[in-house]
Amino acid sequence: MIDIKCLGSSSAGNAYRITDGRTALLLEAGFPYKSLQRELKFRMSDIAGCLISHEHGDHSKAAKDVMKAGIPIYTSQGTANALGLAGHRLKPIKAHQQFEIGTWSIRPFEIEHDAAEPLGFILANTAGDKLVFLTDTYYCRYRFAGLTHIMVEANYSLDIVNQRVADGQLHPAQKKRLLRSHFGLEHVKDFLKANDISRVEEIWLLHLSDGNSDAARFKREIQETTGKMVMVANR
Ligand SMILES: [Zn+2]
Ligand SMILES: [Zn+2]
Repeated sequence: MIDIKCLGSSSAGNAYRITDGRTALLLEAGFPYKSLQRELKFRMSDIAGCLISHEHGDHSKAAKDVMKAGIPIYTSQGTANALGLAGHRLKPIKAHQQFEIGTWSIRPFEIEHDAAEPLGFILANTAGDKLVFLTDTYYCRYRFAGLTHIMVEANYSLDIVNQRVADGQLHPAQKKRLLRSHFGLEHVKDFLKANDISRVEEIWLLHLSDGNSDAARFKREIQETTGKMVMVANR
């Protein structure tokens, strides 16, 4: 069993609480600490650790405050340097070096984004669940076996982006940056095709862009292509 709670998911700030009923973790800390506390109902001491994928503010804003609250931060040295994080609550991690937090075994892997040392995560627990967390990347070079939960960015859809460029609502340079830094609906479909999703119970679509996405349509299309339960983290 994995329980996933979206505390926020957009370019305004990303954070998710996941638990297997024994160890609760925070994935990202991308909005002000006070809002994070409120969303977690002030039960910060429940959180055994916080994983941060990269240094952009929408993923890391509360990192220092989270450490001050006594929660260890697990992130790459490149991300820690970019954020100026140090001290005994900083746990530097590296791609392909597995580590444990409570009942979770976590394996980071490289992703492709305009950041210092961004990481995605595979989180497996002792109950046999396996979750992939993949955001802020324009490509995923890995395939994963035995996934039960997928949390994946669905930032935009190419047809919406192209229409907005044609309508003059989006500058071609913004489109270029988007395509070289974020995962879109088309990527999500390719990713789901490339991986064995027979054991998957839930697919979460993350980090939808305000202008370049359509939550209802994304949910419907992924539900139709996979037959799985799809949740859109759009708050
Ligand atoms: Zn980013
Ligand atoms: Zn982001």
